[in-house]
Amino acid sequence: MKNKPLIIAIDGYSSCGKSTFAKAIARWLHYIHIDSGAMYRAVTLFALENGLFRNDKLDTKQLISLLPQISIEFRKNPDNGETETYLNGKNVEKDIRSIEVSNKVSEVSRIREVREYLVRLQRLHAGKGGVVMDGRDIGTVVFPQADIKIFMTASPEVRAMRRYKEMLGKGDHGTYEEVLENVKKRDRIDTTRKISPLRKADDALVLDNSDMTVAEQMEWIKDIIRKKLNEEEKDEA
Ligand code: C5P
Repeated sequence: MKNKPLIIAIDGYSSCGKSTFAKAIARWLHYIHIDSGAMYRAVTLFALENGLFRNDKLDTKQLISLLPQISIEFRKNPDNGETETYLNGKNVEKDIRSIEVSNKVSEVSRIREVREYLVRLQRLHAGKGGVVMDGRDIGTVVFPQADIKIFMTASPEVRAMRRYKEMLGKGDHGTYEEVLENVKKRDRIDTTRKISPLRKADDALVLDNSDMTVAEQMEWIKDIIRKKLNEEEKDEA
């Protein structure tokens, strides 16, 4: 496809399968995929590793002052082709998915300075397009001009079960009930926070994938992308 590279924004609730979906779309289009949640998770891991949570309370001031020392990169693993997250040069792909980070990330992501820092990085990483980025505020804040915006949703129980199975598969600890509680808590914090709360952009298409396979979701999006690319072609002609 020789058209202008698109910016595809995928937002939605936690554990909706946004990253899996975004990755598959990026692979199909030969675009880059950026998991913005991984960036908030990396900052949270940094805060935990540097003792910025004391008695469960985050030292916001100190985290803000240390932001310039946080470097986040995505590198391709040559063995499996997967993109992995690096924090200050160290591969943290596994560490950022721990329940400890999951429990603390919403607290970090509601800090204005953290968001501003990461939104700047996200725009930089995306370059001139040819990108699929998933998160909570991609279609509303990071790329309000995105060519295609998707808002993903699924029931909390379905999402918790998916994450629970994923954790078991990786040999991580935790119960289904804990995961469900975490999913609900994050929904609440993400949708009610003052800065960039999770909400559907007016021009986003809703995808409820509670009862859909990834293959079915791909058929749905491929149709939308093809139409978009055809429109672009006609506009250019
Ligand atoms: O997508 P994931 O569940 O890994 O994101 C982890 C957390 O990062 C979310 O619960 C949310 O608090 C935060 N986040 C955000 N804005 C984004 C992406 C993630 O606030 N664009």
